[in-house]
Amino acid sequence: MQFGAFIVLCGATHFINVWTFYMHSKTVAVVMTVAKVSCAVVSCATALMLVHIIPDLLSVKTRELFLKNRAEELDREMGRMLTQEETGRHVRMLTHEIRSTLDRHTILKTTLVELGRTLGLQECALWMPSRTGMNLQLSHTLNYQIQVGSTVPINLPIINEVFTSSRAIRIPYTCPLARIRPLVGRYVPPEVVALRVPLLNLSNFQINDWPDLSAKSYAIMVLILPTDSTRKWRDHELELVDVVADQVAVALSHAAILEESMRARDQLMEQNVALDLARREAEMAIHARNDFLAVMNHEMRTPMHAIIALSSLLLETELISEQRIMIETVLKSSNLLETLINDVLDLSRLEDGSLELDIRKFNLHGVFREVINLIQPITSVKKLSMSLILSPDLPLCAVGDENRLMQTILNVAGNAVKFTKEGYISIVASVAKPESSRDWRPPEFYPASTDGHFYLRVQVKDSGCGILPRDIPHLFTKFSQPRSGSNRINDGAGLGLAICRRFINTMGGHIWIESEGIDKGSIVAFIVKLGICDNPCDTTAAHQMAPQALPQPQPNYGSGDLIAHRPTFSFRDGGYTSSNPRYQRSV
Ligand code: ADP
Repeated sequence: MQFGAFIVLCGATHFINVWTFYMHSKTVAVVMTVAKVSCAVVSCATALMLVHIIPDLLSVKTRELFLKNRAEELDREMGRMLTQEETGRHVRMLTHEIRSTLDRHTILKTTLVELGRTLGLQECALWMPSRTGMNLQLSHTLNYQIQVGSTVPINLPIINEVFTSSRAIRIPYTCPLARIRPLVGRYVPPEVVALRVPLLNLSNFQINDWPDLSAKSYAIMVLILPTDSTRKWRDHELELVDVVADQVAVALSHAAILEESMRARDQLMEQNVALDLARREAEMAIHARNDFLAVMNHEMRTPMHAIIALSSLLLETELISEQRIMIETVLKSSNLLETLINDVLDLSRLEDGSLELDIRKFNLHGVFREVINLIQPITSVKKLSMSLILSPDLPLCAVGDENRLMQTILNVAGNAVKFTKEGYISIVASVAKPESSRDWRPPEFYPASTDGHFYLRVQVKDSGCGILPRDIPHLFTKFSQPRSGSNRINDGAGLGLAICRRFINTMGGHIWIESEGIDKGSIVAFIVKLGICDNPCDTTAAHQMAPQALPQPQPNYGSGDLIAHRPTFSFRDGGYTSSNPRYQRSV
């Protein structure tokens, strides 16, 4: 209003000046003066007011500018948020696509296709380190504009730069990693970015066509913008590429683990098939061996018995000395062969578990007396003193496999006779007491007496050639004999003790040897588990047993097969022969 009044008064003053140009009355002069004074007053008042108004106006103006800037900033922020949301959506979509499969090649192919579609790329390629780690090889590409399989050396500076950067970096389009096929027509040099894709270290896995991941290793992803526009990489696009590369790394590691476990499963299945085949082959081999054993049993032993019997009969006839030597050699060889056949049969039956114990009541004292009766003739020929001590608490009768027990005692006592030139042989039999068992060897064997059972302890001691302590552990191994020692002339096959140990183990016992060295004698001891007999058996026959009253050779013992070969002895011309060559050899 003031400003309006000022303008009006000012205009009025000038107008009055025009009107009073020639002549004017006093009244006009007064009016003009009043108008001029009013104008001056209003003008001063306006000036004074403007002093206050101008800062206000200025501050309003500043605020307006500030608000405008703020609005622009908010617009930008909004744009950024929208871009981020867009990027997130793309990442989610890409991640979903990538994770929808657990096949390595599909993951990589999907990544390239989806990145190419989302970012509108000219080309997108993945370079994997070769197995040697010296090169990068192009393994996957989007549009095949770079030759799949082409390689670049890994030590290029640009590759090193990409490896050391955790984010996507721009690389020249002329770089070997981005060298796409020559483009025809006009084109704009494209902008290219490259970034590393970590190949996670899978400590326990080594995948066939996968680089050696024991050291940290990377693949490189190269993304090329279209060559027909001047498009540049924008920040949110680079962010998206970074995030996708991490997702690809994780998905690849999962795929690698799955691939490896599938391969392991396939391997296991193959192994199972091979094992099945091996099992069937083993079963066939067992069948073949059983057939062979049957042949051995019937077809080989029968003629062998005939040879032995006829040779023995031949020896009874009138022969010239050369013939006698020849027949004796035939007899000795046949006996050796028979022992070998018997031992091999025993061993193979023991090993395949087909040997069953023939458990029945028997005269325990009788077994020892029979053993003594069998070896006494040999000891007397060799002039060895011989003793048998049966402890008073030894039951007269026991339940167990009499033939296997006798075979074991005969083997051990036979060895004692065989390896002793002079001195003595003693056999001690007693009931093993748990308290005395602590001294026994080996320390891990402690028999625990249970109801209805007792442990028989047999010790065969001799003053023979002895054994070196270092040889003792090998004596129970089949076909093994000590190479050292003073009295090693032995024509056995090294099966006797191996068979004894298996018999004794089958009977729930243990056997061991003690010797202080060469010419210091030996002690062979064993314990076996036997059943206590409730009704003592008739022992008269056993007590009366004498060499003349020994049983005649029988084809079968025990369980009805020919395995339990019981030696038989007879005196001839003041000498001594046995159906068991072990003793015949000793004589
Ligand atoms: P073989 O049937 O050849 O006699 P063994 O298994 O019965 O085989 O015995 C294996 C080896 O143990 C024998 O060759 C011998 O060296 C040794 N041996 C066994 N018993 C005695 C013993 N009482 N004295 C000395 N050496 C023995």
